[in-house]
Amino acid sequence: MSQSLIGFDVGGQSVKAAVVNESAEVTARGRRVTGADTTAESLAASIGALLDDLVDGVRPESLGVGIAGVVGTTGNLEGSPNMPALTGRPIAKELSDLLGARVVVENDANCAAYAEGWFGAADGVADYLVVTLGTGLGSGVVIAGGLYRGSTGYACELGHSIVHAGGRRCGCGNLGCLEAYASEAAMRTIIVERDDDLTAEVLSRVSDEDEGYTQALYALAEGSASNATVARMAQREAEEMIRMLGIGLASAVNVFDIETVVIAGGIAPAVLSRLDDLKSAMATSLFARPIDAVRVLPSVHGNDAGSIGAARLAGESL
Ligand SMILES: [Zn+2]
Repeated sequence: MSQSLIGFDVGGQSVKAAVVNESAEVTARGRRVTGADTTAESLAASIGALLDDLVDGVRPESLGVGIAGVVGTTGNLEGSPNMPALTGRPIAKELSDLLGARVVVENDANCAAYAEGWFGAADGVADYLVVTLGTGLGSGVVIAGGLYRGSTGYACELGHSIVHAGGRRCGCGNLGCLEAYASEAAMRTIIVERDDDLTAEVLSRVSDEDEGYTQALYALAEGSASNATVARMAQREAEEMIRMLGIGLASAVNVFDIETVVIAGGIAPAVLSRLDDLKSAMATSLFARPIDAVRVLPSVHGNDAGSIGAARLAGESL
């Protein structure tokens, strides 16, 4: 592996880049704005500009790119929620041709998961799960030290495992997916639908304190509510989210026989503030193992995880 690696994290609004050393430490960062009209050419131009900003002299032979969407095992982007023009394109090959370098493309949640095994929360752990709790619920599984992709690249869509048969409608169209209960978008829907005093207090925190819906809900549950009734309502909603997340995580532990679960993403701090409750919720659904055998850990690489994991994949392709 060369001295420095570079990884890119392509999201709906921006491309982030990180130059990473052999110990997975980020030595330089960059960011370029993108949009829904992103094409392979404009994405290559953004990546090229970031390379110009961050790399002196010779460009790396291999680049890693994490992207939201389903990345097929051949490097084709089978589906992209944020960038429709990229859907169905052989994105790894197109970027490689445009940039004149080897390009490894992987799903962004998989990149974030892979990063945690490299001087991260799951360093030295062969089998683990990373769940990214943000607007949606992303996840990636590492088995025997390698990313588990499945037959087509769709493996471990934990956000779309069913935790409540016939339950809430998910963005994917199915009913009762975990993402419809344990994500920022889900909390927003659930709180707005209530249309009561809890809704009013959450909305006021969201606009005045610049908090997310989940963060505001948890703050109200922890004693910031104006009265005991609102506090109780907030506690019940927070408990329900944790209960559903616990069922989903325990199911993944049961399926993959893993004992390390890493929680990442923007609403991870709120969820981890109720770690005991989360573990209790998991305990009720675990098969053949006590909850004490399962470690639930915060992400180490945080917002850099996607870029760091992409850089790790680039390094391994050399
Ligand atoms: Zn779903």
